[in-house]
Amino acid sequence: MTNSTPMERSWVEINLAALQHNLDFLKSKMQAHQHFLMIVKADGYGHGAYEISRIALEAGAVYLGVANPEEGKLLRIQGCKAPILVLSPSLEQEIDTIIAYELCPTVSTLSFAKALNKAAQNQAIRQQIHLKVDTGMHRSGEAWSSFLKLYKAIAGLSQLHIEGIFSHFAAAENNREFSKLQEERFQALINSLDNKPKYYHISNSNAVVNGFGSTCNLVRLGILAYGIDTSGQDLPLKPVMTFKAILSQVKSIAKGESIGYNRSWIAETDTRYGILPIGYADGYDFLLGNNSQVALHRKLLAVLGRISMDMITIDLGNAPAAKVGDVLTLLGAGNEAIRAENIAARYDGSPYELLCQIGRRAKRYYYMGDKLLHSAPLSRRDFVPDDFSDSKLNQIIEAAIAQRLQSTEIGELIYREILRSFFYNKDKDIHYRHGFRHEITLAESLATGYYKATTTLSFEKILGNDYFIVACASSDEVLNRYFKRHDVEYRWLMDNAFELDPDSFSVSLVMVDELVLHTELKHINGCMEIKCTHPQLMERVGHKVKFTINTHTLYPNHSHQLSVFITELTQGVDIGFHYPDNLDKIECVPVFSGQEKYPVIEKSEGAIRVHTKPEQWVFPISGVVFSY
Ligand SMILES: *Cc1c(COP(=O)(O)O)cnc(C)c1O
Repeated sequence: MTNSTPMERSWVEINLAALQHNLDFLKSKMQAHQHFLMIVKADGYGHGAYEISRIALEAGAVYLGVANPEEGKLLRIQGCKAPILVLSPSLEQEIDTIIAYELCPTVSTLSFAKALNKAAQNQAIRQQIHLKVDTGMHRSGEAWSSFLKLYKAIAGLSQLHIEGIFSHFAAAENNREFSKLQEERFQALINSLDNKPKYYHISNSNAVVNGFGSTCNLVRLGILAYGIDTSGQDLPLKPVMTFKAILSQVKSIAKGESIGYNRSWIAETDTRYGILPIGYADGYDFLLGNNSQVALHRKLLAVLGRISMDMITIDLGNAPAAKVGDVLTLLGAGNEAIRAENIAARYDGSPYELLCQIGRRAKRYYYMGDKLLHSAPLSRRDFVPDDFSDSKLNQIIEAAIAQRLQSTEIGELIYREILRSFFYNKDKDIHYRHGFRHEITLAESLATGYYKATTTLSFEKILGNDYFIVACASSDEVLNRYFKRHDVEYRWLMDNAFELDPDSFSVSLVMVDELVLHTELKHINGCMEIKCTHPQLMERVGHKVKFTINTHTLYPNHSHQLSVFITELTQGVDIGFHYPDNLDKIECVPVFSGQEKYPVIEKSEGAIRVHTKPEQWVFPISGVVFSY
């Protein structure tokens, strides 16, 4: 759960302060007139696109870059409002998503531009696009030599707005000559345009530190911002991602014995070794078998034998104090040898790939320096509720209802009005009543025009506080305030002909189990609040108790009706209405929602009852109207 320290067998730590540090460094290498776009494709190079975006935008990013519309959509759903560029060529079937989530696609063919233009026309919108020029990489983009023709054709499409033009370096980190050529081709193109677009950009992060693309007004920061130094220049960058695992077993092997699949490592002497519960399925590359090191504090320990799917073995010969439960670092900060660029170099792999694959089975913990901000759940394909915090679950419930009903408005309504009305103070414990019994007896009274009404209410419920309130008001408006409060167990609407005083409404007995409660009357803003307390109530908070509340009041003859409301989720309802001989033709109309919609109505001499089976649930707000 949120804010706990890692308890898993392996986990990923994302240090957002390191990201800030790297961005500061890269900004110092940018030209004064340049803005930056933060590349967050592939879930932010495996770091979490949303969190990386959040910090990058704070640091001044004007744009985010993703690989495909789905990644952009996810950021939008997470609440990201910044401009998002989809870097790789989009498919026509992705146009709906692009428009719905206000993404900016990269365009490099006329056929796609026309399809997009048509869709934008149908929706009556103007769609922003960036055009991609191929200046020598020969991957996506329109070749520099024929680009102007495409540009003119697309510029003539009424619903598209060319916000940017860009190209991409093939080898900005290690080929100056070719990069220079690409830069010149791009620059010549931009210079030939009468109207320059808002953004023209060619540099990735290595191009920035190598001084390419300095006349462009936007740069695209990726790998170096994540603290992986692929420049070969020993830049002062800090790895943002660190991957850790727990030592799960310590063992010894005798000289001549072998470890792991294919017996690829054989002990030359008796050796103490350990098992880490991660393997290539966790993204620790298979090619690191017999060819890597992990860090225990400052010490480096060799990986022995093959990498298995779910385990690796490490040499503990140099770490006699190592014990089960120790935390080892497999990749990231803390030691040069385990930086992603150095580990990838061991097998001639790519540090980009390593970042994307590492910690596939791990939970992510976000830190700002030493401070743990929060954690992100394991990435599973199926929904596992306890991966998520309560607030996230609330969002999921609301979004799921809205999606299911295809209506945000009704989804929100159901979530707010129905679901939340079941919750107690902490939005966690659902409060409900069992065995709700309410008896109301009308009898002739001395006050002309009024009946004397005696009510007895009882139900079982978990006691929430060491007090509760009985409220009586003579206007709906005032009483309504008490429906929102969870410390009110009984509400009575009094006829407005009466003064609010105990002659017109009084509580005759209040009990919790066998305790008879003290009552204290207060007049507060047009309401009588009767606070019910007992010194021993505190001990029963959190336990199921039986409430009994009896009242006396007067009820007008001319009203001709009396209502009983069920304001909480209730299991088992039994309501009785007893009336004097002179009243006949008593009718009752129950309006029940929930499992039980048609309670049993029984009439007898001088009484009418409405009841459900004891196990049946009735939802708030239900009730019965008796008319006479
Ligand atoms: C991934 C990507 C980048 C970022 O490159 P780095 O080498 O990680 O800085 C820049 N531009 C485009 C088009 C990309 O796809």
